[in-house]
Amino acid sequence: MSSYVTHLEAAIDGTRLPADELQTLHAGRPLWVRYDLEAVARAVSRDQLNGRPPNLWRYRELLPVVDDENIVSLGEGMSPLLPCPALGKFLGLERLWIKDESQLPTGSFKARGLCMAVSRAKELGVERLAIPTAGNAGGALAAYAARAGLEAYVFMPKDTPRVNQAEARLFGARTFLVEGLITDCAALVRRGQEALGWFDLSTLKEPYRIEGKKTMGLELAEQLGWRLPDAIFYPTGGGTGLIGMWKAFDELEQLGWLEDSSRPELYACQSDGCAPIVQAFARGERHADPFPNAHTCASGLRVPQAVGDFMILDAVRRSGGEARSAPEADLVPWMERACALEGISLCPEAAACLAVVAQLRAEGKLAPDREVVVYNTGAVQKYVELMEKPLPTLPLEGSIDWEAVAGAPTT
Ligand SMILES: *Cc1c(COP(=O)(O)O)cnc(C)c1O
Repeated sequence: MSSYVTHLEAAIDGTRLPADELQTLHAGRPLWVRYDLEAVARAVSRDQLNGRPPNLWRYRELLPVVDDENIVSLGEGMSPLLPCPALGKFLGLERLWIKDESQLPTGSFKARGLCMAVSRAKELGVERLAIPTAGNAGGALAAYAARAGLEAYVFMPKDTPRVNQAEARLFGARTFLVEGLITDCAALVRRGQEALGWFDLSTLKEPYRIEGKKTMGLELAEQLGWRLPDAIFYPTGGGTGLIGMWKAFDELEQLGWLEDSSRPELYACQSDGCAPIVQAFARGERHADPFPNAHTCASGLRVPQAVGDFMILDAVRRSGGEARSAPEADLVPWMERACALEGISLCPEAAACLAVVAQLRAEGKLAPDREVVVYNTGAVQKYVELMEKPLPTLPLEGSIDWEAVAGAPTT
């Protein structure tokens, strides 16, 4: 099979670049992958997808890998879209869904972007990969590089969640801790480039992670019967997922696969401990200033500066949504509430979305009958530091106060 990719396009000024060679940024900014969508529409109909396996490769014609042999896969994609009546009731929403990415390989949606980036890097002859990460991207790169038989180097802040540190090493990456933030790790990857000749898979610094993440939008449309919800809440760090989803909706519309032309409002959700996009949105600016003293327990949101800031802000504004922050102190309580009410393994990043939904409900800006989708981007089990609370211990001998057992607190 070949791909329907025609070229790459610089997001900042529209410059065309060839897709059959390695590309990074243009004028310091990211690239879009463009397809011959008319040819895709002739080649496949949305109904033909029905018989395909339930993973993201079902959208093969809308993905950039040329030769099937280069596909590096761990069975990623087609995550469940779960109705959440209990959480919905708590929030006063009749139609609340969680798109549950906690079930993807390595326990986060980072698998989508990295399977695509690693597949394309392999296709273009790269042998050595490097990534700066706030946590989950490091584990995902390590796993896909292992699967592809490529060398991986992972750089993460010293206070990255323990599970992220361990999984990157476990999956065979050379893994390093750095005194600093993800932006400092990114600087290290740039510095090492000349000496070690690795290819930099940083968020948005190569064009294909967006293509992997856009499948979250393709799946959502397909799961809802080729229509879109009223509002999407997305925990935003580097913004690849949000940018990718908006691109997916554009492509679906051009293919004529959507039932109608209504688009969801996009809400980019951050923590007030690291809210550069929220700040730029509030000021009406197209680019975001670096956020000083960035701190949040939602490590995926600890991105003080995003190279695709204008792409996030453009998508949010075009959608009629907003960029909003949740109080940092509210994240763990929302995480615990969602886990306990729905049994979904909900990460603190997604908890920021729930806190923002609650804000909008309280302000009367989100009517009870609106159909709302929250992306749960990762599994809570990766955040043992946040999960653990001391448990009551029961004695083996002597009497037990069974009433106290029944009355023990749940979260
Ligand atoms: C990386 C990450 C995010 C942020 O994702 P972007 O698409 O880069 O904005 C959110 N949640 C989790 C769990 C992550 O690992």
